[in-house]
Amino acid sequence: MKIVYSERFLEHETGPGHPENPQRLIAIIRYLKENNLAVSFDKPKEISERELYIVHDEEYIERLKFLSDTQQGAGDNPFSMNTFKIAKLAAGGALKAAENSKKEFSFALIRPPGHHASRNAFGGFCYLNNIAFATASMLKSEVKKAMIVDIDQHHGNGTQDIFYDDRRVFYLSFHQDPNTCFPWNSGFERENNEHIHNVVIQPGTKDAGYLKIFEEKFRKDVNAFKPELIGVSVGFDTFYRDYSCGNAIDIEDSATYNRIGGIIQEEAEKLGARAFAVLEGGYYLGTLGQNFWSFCSAFP
Ligand SMILES: [Zn+2]
Repeated sequence: MKIVYSERFLEHETGPGHPENPQRLIAIIRYLKENNLAVSFDKPKEISERELYIVHDEEYIERLKFLSDTQQGAGDNPFSMNTFKIAKLAAGGALKAAENSKKEFSFALIRPPGHHASRNAFGGFCYLNNIAFATASMLKSEVKKAMIVDIDQHHGNGTQDIFYDDRRVFYLSFHQDPNTCFPWNSGFERENNEHIHNVVIQPGTKDAGYLKIFEEKFRKDVNAFKPELIGVSVGFDTFYRDYSCGNAIDIEDSATYNRIGGIIQEEAEKLGARAFAVLEGGYYLGTLGQNFWSFCSAFP
């Protein structure tokens, strides 16, 4: 297992009181160090702006650069001097993890997150769609079919948007009912097509209920689609103490993330598929490291 990480990810500043802040990665790295976990690290890949056009419009990239240079933006998506540069590095981190998966499972420990960024819009703390960029890049060369499994609490509206008409990608998302939380206007089962499957989970669902839904649906879809590559958008904001809007999905036991990872690893191994993961949400610093390691340790 390899973790793709750079201290430069701390340079994207979001201002006081923002839940998506550098402390998230600091907390995870601290947990790994304090527990003497034998982790092998790797650096993100440096990518060019042009490479991003595979999932984002050129004008959108220019706009992000302008907003970053002039430090505009506010609310969910503030822009600091380094925001564009670091968002690009995060996309390169996701790609590095996808490349590493040829040999071993790899987790891109990156920020800012990406799954709410569409071809031409940012939102929900996301600027560039890291997992979409990594997946689309792999489809250019190394694989023919890929599955993206999204276990963040929120629907990955950006990822769905980018791959909505691309049958090479099966997007399977498990998320809280969007009638009750962000992104509010997408993630409903009525949006599903042959290769886009939204699984709406009711607020208040806990570990056993979540695992039952996840296991049944994931095993069924992954075996029907038979991807060569599985990318996982991992958000730990499903944890019961996490920042969220009121009544939410409540995973109460860190070990549940290990079980989720284990199910993914088992099916990937059976199918001979490569697997990688990228960090999306997860804001409760108290258990972020523990939850992260619980997921990762399901993989060899
Ligand atoms: Zn989320």
